[in-house]
Amino acid sequence: MTIGYVWNTVYGWVDTGSGSLFPSDATSGLQPIAHHLAHPDTKRRFHELVAVSGLLDRLREVRALPATETDILRVHTAEHLARIKAESLLPKGGDAGDGCSPFGKGGYEIAALSAGGAIQLVSQVVAGTIDTGYALVNPPGHHATRASGMGFCVFNNVSVAAAYAKEVLGLERVAIVDWDVHHGNGTQDIWYSDPSVLTVSLHQHLCFPPNSGFREERGSGAGAGYSINIPLPPGSGDAAYLHALEEAVFPALRAFRPELIIVASGFDASMMDPLARQMVTSAGFAQLTRRMLDLAADLCEGKIAFVQEGGYSPYYVPFCGVAVLRELLGEPYEPDPYTPIVSTQGGDVLLEHEAAAVRAAVAIPGTPAGEGDPRAITVG
Ligand code: ZN
Repeated sequence: MTIGYVWNTVYGWVDTGSGSLFPSDATSGLQPIAHHLAHPDTKRRFHELVAVSGLLDRLREVRALPATETDILRVHTAEHLARIKAESLLPKGGDAGDGCSPFGKGGYEIAALSAGGAIQLVSQVVAGTIDTGYALVNPPGHHATRASGMGFCVFNNVSVAAAYAKEVLGLERVAIVDWDVHHGNGTQDIWYSDPSVLTVSLHQHLCFPPNSGFREERGSGAGAGYSINIPLPPGSGDAAYLHALEEAVFPALRAFRPELIIVASGFDASMMDPLARQMVTSAGFAQLTRRMLDLAADLCEGKIAFVQEGGYSPYYVPFCGVAVLRELLGEPYEPDPYTPIVSTQGGDVLLEHEAAAVRAAVAIPGTPAGEGDPRAITVG
C-alpha cells in the first residue's frame, strides 16, 4: 500500500491574528490572545507528531502546488477571488468574508496552496500512483461558499479538488463526506444544484454556521436530493458517529455509486474540542476511517482521499490525526496518552435520541426529503 501525505511548512504560517473567535477589540473587552482558536499550531503539532511517531517514514510525500486561478474559479466567483487577492496584498492582510476569518499578508498564496494540496492528493488517488492519502492542509475550506469565505475558510479545498476531478480528470460522480463537527455549508452551497457531486455532512445540530445544516436542505433544481445533512445531537460520541456512518451515510453512497470519495476530515467532533460539544475519541476516528476505506474498496476501487478541515484542540487533534493515518497505513490502532481519560467519559454506547436523529436523516440521493429508505435500493 502506498499512502500519500500532503503537508507544507507554510500551512503552519496561516496568520489568524491576535483575536479569539472574533478579532481582538479593546472597546468590547475582547483581549488579544497569543493563540486564536484557529491558530495553525494545532495542525503543525499534528504534522510534528506524524514525523516523531515515525509514520512520516512510511508515507509517500505528495507535494502541494498552488491551485491556479482557473482551479479556484471552477467553484468560486471572480469577485471572491479578486477580493482575497487584493486583501492579501495589504500590510495587515484581510478577512475571508465573515469578519471572523482573518488572514495575514500573503494569505492568498497559502490558501491557494491549501486548495492545491487537495488537488494533488486527489489527482494521485485517481491516477493510482497512491492507494489513498491524507492532505493535512491549512486553512480549512468547507465553510467557504461560492461567493465568500467564512469560518476560517478562504477557498473550499475539497470542492476545488472535486471540480478538478470532474473537469480535468473526467470523473462523473464524486461524493464528499464531511465529518467535521460543523455543517459543511460552503460545500453544500457550491454543489447545491449539481447532481454530479453528492454532499453528505455529519455535524452537531445547530452548532455552526447559525441556522444551517437542517435535514430539509436537500439540494435544488437538477441537484435536488443530492445534498444530505445528518445533524446529530450534542454529546454524540464514537457510537453515534459510527451508527450514522453505517445507517445514513453508507446507504446514500451505495445508491449514488461515486467514482471517488473525498472525506472532509475535521477533528472538532473530538472529546476535547473547544468549538463543539461532541465526544468522538481517537479510537472513534480510527474506526470511522477503517469503515470508509472498506466502503470505498467495495464501491469505487478504493478511490478515497482525506482532506483536513477543522479541529481546534492543540492537545488532542494530533492524536486523532495520527490514529487516522495509522488506519490508512493498515496499522492497528494504538491508545494514546489521553485514552485512559477520554475512554471513560461515555459516547461509546448509542443512545436512543442519537439513533432517532440518524433515522430521521436517512435519505436517498436524488429523491426529495423524507421519501423512502435507501436500504431498499438494489445497486446493480
Ligand atoms: Zn469545524
